[in-house]
Amino acid sequence: MKKQILKIMFLAAEAEPFIKIGGLGDVAGSLPHALRALASSFTPKLELDIRLVIPFHGAIQRQTLDLHTVGNFTVAHAEGPIPGNALMTEINGLPVYLISGAPIPRDAAVYSEDTAIDGHKFTFFSLAALELAKMLDWQPDVIHANDWHTAPAIYAVKALPDPFFNFTATLLGLHNLPFMGENAGPAMEAFGLPPANDSALPWWAQSMPLPLGLLTADHIVAVSPTYAREILTYEHGAGLHEFLALHQKKISGILNGIDTLLWNPQTDQAIAANFDTTCLDARNANKTALASEFDLDPNLPLLAMVTRFDHQKGVDLIPVALRLLQKEKWQLIILGAGTPELEEEICSLESQFPKRFRAAIRFDALLSRRIYAGADILLIPSRYEPCGLAQMIAMRYGCVPVARSTGGLRDTIKDHNAQFKSGFLFPKTTSRALSATIRRALTAFEKKETWKEIQHNGMRQDFSWENSARQYIQLYQSMLKTP
Ligand code: ADP
Repeated sequence: MKKQILKIMFLAAEAEPFIKIGGLGDVAGSLPHALRALASSFTPKLELDIRLVIPFHGAIQRQTLDLHTVGNFTVAHAEGPIPGNALMTEINGLPVYLISGAPIPRDAAVYSEDTAIDGHKFTFFSLAALELAKMLDWQPDVIHANDWHTAPAIYAVKALPDPFFNFTATLLGLHNLPFMGENAGPAMEAFGLPPANDSALPWWAQSMPLPLGLLTADHIVAVSPTYAREILTYEHGAGLHEFLALHQKKISGILNGIDTLLWNPQTDQAIAANFDTTCLDARNANKTALASEFDLDPNLPLLAMVTRFDHQKGVDLIPVALRLLQKEKWQLIILGAGTPELEEEICSLESQFPKRFRAAIRFDALLSRRIYAGADILLIPSRYEPCGLAQMIAMRYGCVPVARSTGGLRDTIKDHNAQFKSGFLFPKTTSRALSATIRRALTAFEKKETWKEIQHNGMRQDFSWENSARQYIQLYQSMLKTP
């Protein structure tokens, strides 16, 4: 018989509305709510006791939160136990715990350039989350950790057996395989987590948090069905494809959703004019406002990018692609920040294309909304994309994606379906393939009715969490360990 109270401990390095750096923040901020909403609609009612645990990063604004002290604990360390502290708040009924301690300094960025420092911070956080569960005397049925930062919690449940977690199953959400927590090995060892001794795991991965989590998790969820298959290949397996193939039975792919209340062009307060599929023309006011903000022409096609500047995102393909498109009519706004060399390269395009290229080098959540609502086309030339949220948000806002056919981009953008087209995909990570596909999109853009239909199709696709939340609940239930 299926259990009627499911206790899930959801661990993440970042979560909206507390702190968001990238898609993980969106997911950790919205999936637990979606799971609660879905569980309450079950008949018979499923009681889901899901609790989110995140580090109390310095950038989290303490003043705006109604925080309660939960208690103090210590985390064992080679140099002596490290004190930790948990505070708690609630977001729409979801209990959220914020963990503090010396390894999570209030004056440090969420992620450091130095992965050894992050190794110390996030291993402490992962083990502190386990201590928190014990302090609360709350035995989770499933620990749902995400990415390398919280993978040590999964490894610890196996490597440091504790009767308290005898009936706790572990699930590792895989949002970005190549980020494995390089250089975190010494920190893990200092916290009592030794390297693995498993011959299937490549030697270089035996002391990294993510591979250790992948090795010991009861189940692994990649954030899209295509990514779940891609990680088994040489191209996308980041050196772990053979190891992952051996564990294929415990890997599945569940597509991320977006919070359709937070991302809603009908109600978004950050944009010049609200709109939906029944009044798509109202969207034009957003394009006019965006063009005026960047001193561009509202009558020409407006392309955009909203992205981290990272090799993964294919930002480096842009300069040559634009040169190949010299003769076409386009304008482009890029909002993003990250690798300094990429920032410099993208900024230099402003002098090469002074009338039609603009770079906004920063993280700017409100500008991202104005872009999704006002640009015609969003470029996503990613080398790999485990799921990707930008394309879903863009489609919901009537901004048509031109994207590399990989991972979640491939699962969410319909290009070659004659009856239902919502965007444009290209197979190869080259500037030439990107420019050819932009040209294809620009040609379609000229045919106003065709374009409207593509926009409508994107806006009508269901990107809500409901479907995926259902799959997670089924998965949690299938993983339960009964006494
Ligand atoms: P990733 O998690 O790999 O960065 P996703 O597409 O999954 O990529 O999610 C990115 C999220 O971060 C989206 O919500 C996107 O709007 C947002 N984002 C990325 N860069 C910026 C930026 N410079 N300013 C504002 N929002 C950004």
